[in-house]
Amino acid sequence: MNTIGHIINGNEVTEGTRQQPVYNPATGEAEKQVLLASQETVEQAIASAQEAYPAWRNTPPIKRARVMFKFKELLEANAEKICQLIGEEHGKIPHDAMGELQRGIENVEYACGIPELLKGEHSRNVGPGIDSWSEFQPLGVVAGITPFNFPVMVPLWMFPMAIACGNTFVLKPSERDPSSTLYIAELLKEAGLPDGVFNVVNGDKEAVDTLLNDARIKAVSFVGSTPIAEYIYSTANANGKRCQALGGAKNHAIVMPDADMDNAVNQLLGAAFGSSGERCMALSVAVAVGDAAADALIAKMKDAMKGLKVGAYTDSSNDFGPVITAAHRDKVVGFIDSAEADGATVVVDGRNPQVAGHENGFFVGGTLIDGVTPQMNSYQQEIFGPVLQVVRVSSMDEAMALIDAHEYGNGTCIFTRDGEAARYFSDNIQVGMVGINVPLPVPVAYHSFGGWKRSLFGDLHAYGPDGVRFYTKRKTITQRWPSAGVREGVSFSMPTLK
Ligand code: NAD
Repeated sequence: MNTIGHIINGNEVTEGTRQQPVYNPATGEAEKQVLLASQETVEQAIASAQEAYPAWRNTPPIKRARVMFKFKELLEANAEKICQLIGEEHGKIPHDAMGELQRGIENVEYACGIPELLKGEHSRNVGPGIDSWSEFQPLGVVAGITPFNFPVMVPLWMFPMAIACGNTFVLKPSERDPSSTLYIAELLKEAGLPDGVFNVVNGDKEAVDTLLNDARIKAVSFVGSTPIAEYIYSTANANGKRCQALGGAKNHAIVMPDADMDNAVNQLLGAAFGSSGERCMALSVAVAVGDAAADALIAKMKDAMKGLKVGAYTDSSNDFGPVITAAHRDKVVGFIDSAEADGATVVVDGRNPQVAGHENGFFVGGTLIDGVTPQMNSYQQEIFGPVLQVVRVSSMDEAMALIDAHEYGNGTCIFTRDGEAARYFSDNIQVGMVGINVPLPVPVAYHSFGGWKRSLFGDLHAYGPDGVRFYTKRKTITQRWPSAGVREGVSFSMPTLK
């Protein structure tokens, strides 16, 4: 069986005693195993990053950008292989994997502009013969801890910018689908990155805790579920590290009575069921304003869902694949059961999909549930599966109050033809990323990504301009070169200009 190891100082490391199976979710088979790094192995990775740091920090930004240009080319040239690896371990269908990769590549493209992005601020003559400027210096060794659902894109949110800024990096990807992440690390070496600048350790809590507790790690970027995000943020902070920890979500779409219903249904289909609903920006709740809108939405969704195809990533005619593990499938099915037991109506039931030739795969079919109320557990928790729940309300204010009351605030969307309503919504809703007739408002690489409330712990969002700020610290220098022979007198007062 293929054993997946780590990359430390540019070398593959396959030593270690602890390991766990990596499943192909479409077959249900454990086809590979991944090593789980011990504290000692993670410390080796940190030491390698620490050693590489001084030379990399002093490498001119334009040279660091050239590595990123080459890396982008290699990602594009090897796109098919990357998507194949994503499919084998995550289960995502090829064009969805290609979309993930493309969104990741756009972060590399943004990082290619690092000489421009690192330009500081300069003021001449802040005092007589005195100039002052601010510059953005790298932090040192920084770490990233990433989730299973975007094994390529989310790491690419982090390390290209961190490295372009002059930091060195230790990445701990998800142990559930590590191969595509390790493969892109190999491509970065091929692009000319010096050994030690980027290290990858696979592992579980032991690896994560080592990163959180080691004083050499100056900052931690995390993406994953909210309970772990909260733990990472509080531990990293207690240890004096900068931290951004992005958590879970429950994204609502308001469907207004004036919405173009056919368009809303098409958009909801992709946003609710694409990637089996395993996206932190998946639309998992439709809030229909008025019974007429709700009835029309349910009727059209029910009809459209007849055409949904769930199956293996190997058949590109499928709309979405399996969920990540058998345990996760059971959890998703459990949420459907609980909604039904709480009085909701399962309009389209995906609990027992038949996928010929893949009887042991971890599949859940597209599921539509009507009559969901805020008291239900299935409404309060993140399901992270291909399940769309419909909540009926009587006004837009009621819909907005519902969204604002939810503990998560990652993404949201409104379907309407009314510009005034849309503007009021985007202005006031307590959510970090808002779509207006756009179901997945995932910011492009030159903006930044982040939710509000318990969907993000920290101040700076991921990637884009906030990424540059997260991976650098500001230094402000004030300089005077007195003319030869000129001496300043002594002054005990605060320096001012009058
Ligand atoms: P997860 O929280 O289980 O795991 C994320 C990472 O944390 C993994 O690398 C894992 O090894 C590590 N981890 C897990 N348990 C840990 C523990 N007890 N101590 C220390 N480290 C631990 O998340 P997941 O299931 O891989 O991913 C799905 C979750 O990620 C969903 O909640 C989803 O909403 C969220 N997510 C959020 C965003 C966002 O941008 N907000 C993006 C993608 C995914």
